[in-house]
Amino acid sequence: MRYLSTRGGSEPVKFCEAVSQGLAPDGGLYLPETFPDLRTHLQEWSGLSYPDLCHAFFQKFATDLEDAELKDAIYSAYSGFSHSETAPLVRLNEHWQVLELFHGPTLAFKDFALQLLGNLYELQIKRTGKPLCILGATSGDTGAAAISGLLGKSGVKVFILYPNGKVSPLQERQMTCTGAENIYPIAIEGTFDDAQRTVKELFGDITFRESIGLSAVNSINLARILAQSVYYLYAWLRLSSDVREHTTFVVPTGNFGNVFAGWLLTKMGIQFGGFRVATNQNDILHRLFGSGEYQLGEVSPSLAPSMDIQVASNFERLLFYFLDGNADQVREVMTTFRDTGRYEFEKFSIPKFSSSSTNDIEIPQIIGGVWKDHNYLVDPHTACAFQDLPCDMPSVILATAHPAKFPQVFEDAGMSRPTSPVLEELLDRAPNKFHLDVDALSVRSFIEKKLKRT
Ligand SMILES: *Cc1c(COP(=O)(O)O)cnc(C)c1O
Repeated sequence: MRYLSTRGGSEPVKFCEAVSQGLAPDGGLYLPETFPDLRTHLQEWSGLSYPDLCHAFFQKFATDLEDAELKDAIYSAYSGFSHSETAPLVRLNEHWQVLELFHGPTLAFKDFALQLLGNLYELQIKRTGKPLCILGATSGDTGAAAISGLLGKSGVKVFILYPNGKVSPLQERQMTCTGAENIYPIAIEGTFDDAQRTVKELFGDITFRESIGLSAVNSINLARILAQSVYYLYAWLRLSSDVREHTTFVVPTGNFGNVFAGWLLTKMGIQFGGFRVATNQNDILHRLFGSGEYQLGEVSPSLAPSMDIQVASNFERLLFYFLDGNADQVREVMTTFRDTGRYEFEKFSIPKFSSSSTNDIEIPQIIGGVWKDHNYLVDPHTACAFQDLPCDMPSVILATAHPAKFPQVFEDAGMSRPTSPVLEELLDRAPNKFHLDVDALSVRSFIEKKLKRT
């Protein structure tokens, strides 16, 4: 199996290369050249455990990995999940079920991809003998999940920049209380955008990048997408066969990675009722599906902070299929959007997609309503999925984070604070963080100093 860039300007690569590069050299994102038809396997796959299903699925894509290594990487990735089903389905009523994706070590769905990606990086280091240095900026969840996926891995050092005082106290503890020596959480004086800009600047320095083997863990890595397709398939196989093809998957959305991973299964012969893109008040995607206009706005900080985005970086992958695989047109749209901050499609409709948006006044109301009607607690991201959800539509709602990660919302709504033993345990550990000014030079010399120490 080979992987192509959405912008058509790079040579096709094998799986391992697509994973270690992340972004294609022409600035595009990798996609599989062809898709397997999964329909012939459904009978055989329907009774598999989560890791077994994941293994069977990745055998179709990671064709250049040795099978025993692939299997080990997958089994060890999901061994740290606290629920025996890894991704359990919980029924709310006749039509609605919740797919709980928060039983991983950092209590958000990003663990599904980053626990596995950490192991794939480790295999890569073993094969090439070259150490890797991971650099990223985070506003919370991604940093915590990346750190958890990479902690203690030999040959990897991880530097994560975050805005001091602007991530939640629990998220900060998840990043700083790991006790692992290869992890460097760096609190910078500035905003998330400042942190992001510093990271971009360092990635732009090709000599520096190559000399230390710099790599990124952002949501554009194809391995992250494929790892997420697995839980859609797992849930689909657990639905009764008469509703599978009529069930809509409702997905709290930011960068569009999660919902795209589900939609990708339609290319492999799996039928869904639809996909519902649930945004918060940062509604660039909701506006796109409504009006065809893809228009940049200001990021407005919300109660569902992991969905506070301006540009949905995985949107380019959907665009590639919307434009029938015409890489020249993808390049034109992306260039226009980069230069002017907007692009107008005559009509942007893709069969099966619908969307909604939810503001900060509505989020606590929905949390209260779901609790009252179903005796079930949802976090502020998951709450967005319930916006205008038709009562009689068979739906699987993706719960992307554990409510205990965002206790403040519940307190403000007069509800009791949800807790989790995983987070309680963090309170007993000593934090270890570094402080730097927000400029590329100080970050660069910090990294160089820490790399020399080994
Ligand atoms: C990252 C995140 C999202 C958004 O997912 P995308 O793949 O960026 O669309 C939603 N909810 C939570 C809790 C997250 O951490």
